[in-house]
Amino acid sequence: MIDKGEPIVVTGGGGFIGGWLVGHLLSQGYRNVRAVDIKATKYWHQLFPEADNRVLDLREREACREVGRGAAYILNLAADMGGMGYIESHKTECMLSVLINTQMLMAARDEGATRYLFSSSACVYAEDKQTCANVSALREEDAYPAMPEDGYGWEKLFSERMCRHFHEDYGLETRIVRYHNVYGPHGTYDGGREKAPAAICRKVIEAQLNGCKEIEIWGDGEQTRSFMYIDDCLKGTMMIFESEIPQPLNLGSAELVTINQLVDAVELIAGTKLKRCYNLDAPKGVRGRNSDNTKINSLFGWEPSTALVDGIERTYRWIYDRMAGLSLEKRRA
Ligand code: NAD
Repeated sequence: MIDKGEPIVVTGGGGFIGGWLVGHLLSQGYRNVRAVDIKATKYWHQLFPEADNRVLDLREREACREVGRGAAYILNLAADMGGMGYIESHKTECMLSVLINTQMLMAARDEGATRYLFSSSACVYAEDKQTCANVSALREEDAYPAMPEDGYGWEKLFSERMCRHFHEDYGLETRIVRYHNVYGPHGTYDGGREKAPAAICRKVIEAQLNGCKEIEIWGDGEQTRSFMYIDDCLKGTMMIFESEIPQPLNLGSAELVTINQLVDAVELIAGTKLKRCYNLDAPKGVRGRNSDNTKINSLFGWEPSTALVDGIERTYRWIYDRMAGLSLEKRRA
């Protein structure tokens, strides 16, 4: 039973999902929310003055102890990560996130937390099960035999296992969500860490604002993915967090689309049609990936269901407002 008056920690609270989660917890009546991130607060995606906001490097043992002191619950969303362009070229940085989860688990155990959620990823799935665009959706058991995404995926799979053993050996109630491509307003859309939905929105908006008629697409555009809107991500995360299920669970949409179809959706919203230039040398990731939602459906009678066009429309509008505002500021200066 979750007590909303007890201290609850959200690590990575200055990031995309963590920021939304802090807002969600506050709106749901959690009265003692601690948000922590390595970035200075002026760079946080969302900042809530009602939360206890702290800037700490959670690779450090003392920092984890400090933020975990007296906390009943910990939601670990902190990681050094980004879209395919980032994780393919920053494997060491991604793997070093193992320090965050390790130190936070030890702090949870030693400081007496009762429940701990780890944000894992669809990148834990074995690469040989994702070699064609018309892919079979990934079931939780498809993570083994292990051959995850190099770097980022290995760290996630190892950290999942560490959660499992903290649960088995110390009785810490660990919960593991395997997110599949989360997107929405307040996400990163430029700078190198952005993921496909935000990157495509940004490129289409750039073309519009600059009067350009072309767009660069990574790969041949026929690689497939599913994308989960942030509202579904929040609902599913809290469902799994509050549940009694310690095994990893997929949390992703099962609406499989090609990247070309994602571009179609963004173009439709923007009311434009651009020439597509395919960069076959750019990072592409696996050929196809989808979420099998049998388990989450059977446990909760629910799965992420926001239609891609609806979620993308809200995301596009948010990015457009920011980019149009910035370009107006530039012209004025
Ligand atoms: P994000 O990059 O927006 O947020 C992560 C936050 O962690 C950042 O604000 C970052 O500054 C912080 N952080 C990094 N190193 C830190 C450190 N040493 N100490 C404290 N804070 C640190 O990413 P996100 O999209 O919000 O992802 C949240 C979690 O969900 C991550 O664990 C990520 O791997 C996982 N995940 C996300 C997706 C997705 O599609 N967004 C998919 C799969 C898994």
